Formats: sequence, structure tokens, C-alpha cells
Amino acid sequence: MLVNSKKLFDSALREGYAIPSYNINNLEWVRYILEACNEDKSPVILAVTPSSIKYFGGYKIVTNIVKCMIEELNIKIPVVLHLDHSKNFISCKKAIDAGFTSVMIDASDKSFEENISITSQVVNYAKNKEVSVEAELGNFDFSSAGSSYVYSDLEQSKDFVYRTGIDSYAPVIGNIHGLYDGDEKLNFELLGAICKEVKVPLVLHGASGLDENKLRTAIFCGVTKVNINTELMCAWSSKVKEYINNNKEIYDPRKIISSGEDALKEVIHCKNNIIGSKNKL
Ligand SMILES: [Zn+2]
Repeated sequence: MLVNSKKLFDSALREGYAIPSYNINNLEWVRYILEACNEDKSPVILAVTPSSIKYFGGYKIVTNIVKCMIEELNIKIPVVLHLDHSKNFISCKKAIDAGFTSVMIDASDKSFEENISITSQVVNYAKNKEVSVEAELGNFDFSSAGSSYVYSDLEQSKDFVYRTGIDSYAPVIGNIHGLYDGDEKLNFELLGAICKEVKVPLVLHGASGLDENKLRTAIFCGVTKVNINTELMCAWSSKVKEYINNNKEIYDPRKIISSGEDALKEVIHCKNNIIGSKNKL
């Protein structure tokens, strides 16, 4: 069943676990992620970036693929269909109109006031349609440059969440997209302080590659949604590459693509276990 994230976040906050958000990068991944989470009895957020929407062919194609898979595969868990890192109001509107149940507006590259204005526009459009809105302040993609890690400002975070009325907030606490070099400097103290001040569920982007201890600490400090993409990509692609290298005579795309299925599902089972969403239904 497609749902918005509100109820899922409420239960997760109450019980001290997080909802996993996995990016769907193609049709096969939708099935793998739904099956793995259904087996784990874990609620799940299926995240789609604007570039993945282009890859699939359009917003409605994504919505219909997800809805049909839920029905045909007899998926019993609640599923959120989420637009990830949308840079403008138009793509949020398109996603909402196509049946997405959650959107992230990422105007973090704009000025503080512009970010508030664009985010508020999305919140106004989404709220009558029961769609959840996530937004970001600071910028994850600038937070990996050597010693100049980026951290969201506490007072600005408070102001931003209050003035926009968003449902969940993605602060930057030294987290980055992609792979960490092993020397990540997450500021959990800041995370805890933001959690106390903003009073909405917090989202951890760039959770790929964080060890069990760091993930659990982040959840303890108030994180309710954990975003994982790179780790799935690495697990899936390394298995597919290995399969192609060992089976040079195979040309059936179904065999090649599905050779990464087990590796991808294994990462999902492992993450659901760590963040505590397993067996929560
Ligand atoms: Zn992100």
C-alpha cells in the first residue's frame, strides 16, 4: 500500500528506529527492494531522483510500476514513493500530481530566504494532497572537500523548519553523498541539538558506508529516515561485473541484471536490521 511518511515517522520516533530509504535506479531494483523489505516486515521509502525519473521515462511510469509491483507481488508493507533531491517546484508538482506520496525539495544551493520561499511553495501545494515534504539546509555535495566539512547552523535550522512547515528536515552534519574516505566527521552533538530544537523527524543523507555504531548513534540522536543508495550500487555492480567476467558467453540481459539481485538484497536485510525497521509491522 502506498502511504505518506507521516505515520511511519511517528511510529519510528516513538520506538527509536528509522525508516530505510532506498533509491530505485531501474525496474528490477523496485522488485528487489520491495521483496527484501516485505520479507523483513519493514516499512520502506522508495526514493527516485529526477535523473532516475528521466531514466524510467516519466513520473507516471514510476508510480505505475511501483503500484503494480505492490499489487502483483502481494507486497504487504507500507511503501512511500518519494522524490529525492528535486531542485524546483515544478518537478515536485509533477511528482505529486503523478501520485508520489512524499517529495524532497532541495533548494540548498539557493540563499536562505530563497530556500524558504521555494520550500514553502512546495509545502503549500503538498499539504492539501496529504503528501509529505522534506527539505535541506546546507549542501551535502559541498561537504566532502577536505577539512571544510559543512554543518547546518542550529538557529537557521530552527527558523527554516518553523517558517516552511516541512514534515521532515535533512541537516548537514558532515555527511556526504557517495563513498566516505574512512575519516568522516559526523557531528552527533549538533544532530542532537537540532533534533531538540526543530521537533520534526530528521533525515540522514549519505548513510552508505557508515558503520553500525554511527548509524545507531544517528538514530539515537533523532534521525528517523536513513538514505542509502551508493552502498546498493556498489554491491549490485560488483556482482554483475564479476558475473560478466566469469560468464563471457552469456548475452541474456535478464541473467546479467539479476546476477546482482542477491547482493543487493543482502545489503537491504543488513541495513533493515541495523536501523531497527525489521519486524516492525
Ligand atoms: Zn541525498
